[in-house]
Amino acid sequence: MENVHELKFLKEKIQQLKDQGVYRKLPVLQGPSDAEVMLNGKKVINLSSNNYLGFANHPRLKKAAIEAVEKYGAGTGAVRTIIGNMDIHEELEKILAEFKREEAAFVYQSGFNCNAGTIQAITEEGDLIVSDELNHASIIDGSRLSKAKKTIFKHSDMDSLEEVLKTNRDKYRNILIITDGVFSMDGDIAKLPEIVELAEKYEAMTYVDDAHGSGVLGESGRGTVDHFGLHGRIDFSIGTLSKAIGVLGGYVAGSNTMYEWLNHRARPVLFSTSLPPAAVGAIIEAIKMLMESTEYTDRLWDNAKYFKAKLGKLGFNTGHSQTPITPVIIGEESKTMEFSRELFNNGVFVSGIVFPTVPRGTGRVRCMVTAAHTKEQLDRAVDAFEKVGNKMHIIG
Ligand SMILES: *Cc1c(COP(=O)(O)O)cnc(C)c1O
Repeated sequence: MENVHELKFLKEKIQQLKDQGVYRKLPVLQGPSDAEVMLNGKKVINLSSNNYLGFANHPRLKKAAIEAVEKYGAGTGAVRTIIGNMDIHEELEKILAEFKREEAAFVYQSGFNCNAGTIQAITEEGDLIVSDELNHASIIDGSRLSKAKKTIFKHSDMDSLEEVLKTNRDKYRNILIITDGVFSMDGDIAKLPEIVELAEKYEAMTYVDDAHGSGVLGESGRGTVDHFGLHGRIDFSIGTLSKAIGVLGGYVAGSNTMYEWLNHRARPVLFSTSLPPAAVGAIIEAIKMLMESTEYTDRLWDNAKYFKAKLGKLGFNTGHSQTPITPVIIGEESKTMEFSRELFNNGVFVSGIVFPTVPRGTGRVRCMVTAAHTKEQLDRAVDAFEKVGNKMHIIG
């Protein structure tokens, strides 16, 4: 009999990946995440990280992390509900609530965990989850953990959303509308004002995952809800501390009632150890920096506009992004991957994104400009785009 421990069934699946040409090795970063990095032994301009504000390697965050380690140690030793809830965790939640202009904020170990924990805690059998079809994988997985029924509406299509709400309103107790605040592949912003109006009309709750809006949109990065002035009208406002904030973690901001309930029923907080002191110390410093000054978000937007305008002038298709996310749409899958490889050879790292992450034929390299890039670095990146774009007949 075949030996099951040889994992033959996995070996076959791995071979399929190789046959499809999608098998890969992870790129290796040999130093901090910054505007310019050492990657696989080569110095390149980094246009692929979510480190929007350049906080991941910022001296103030590093100093705060070291101080927190010296005062509180390397780990917390327990889940928050036992003895892993330190005063700095409480301080972090207070400052986050203040920053987000909400009553309370509840912190998780990641944005992914936040969706995995929150959605199942606030919905149950007899409820309906209504999700934008392009929502992030962690929302899809989080929804699967809920006993509520699930359905989708067409991406940012308010007629489609209203149709779903109208058809289903009387069949369910609570309805929860979930949307990304900023969609990560195209950089478009959710139509929150319209979504809120429909939610109010049909008495549904709203849940916005603002992973790519936090630290980017709104006053000093307060997010998409702040950008549209919708404070008090979104029930659950999710953010990540892993992208613009530069560290690790996630949170949901909202009412005190939400906080009290999650404090008792959010499974990732009940059954997984709390964020380590270094992370908490660095995040608190990052939020303070944003509350002191808009210089970081100003520089992010200035750089993004500069870079987008230069690529557009060269004739690249940069899609319809409304945020610093800058897709450069190439189209065919293999051509997209070749474009990315050629850019790397010319000193720029920007990863190719193809089917099934985006629809077939819309392959793109997704450029993430940050506040940490200098104009000189952006100019060098644009030169590489021009050179490779001409050589591959994408422009010119
Ligand atoms: C990145 C992302 C997450 C996951 O956040 P992490 O903090 O990296 O776990 C969740 N939701 C959305 C919309 C994201 O883009």
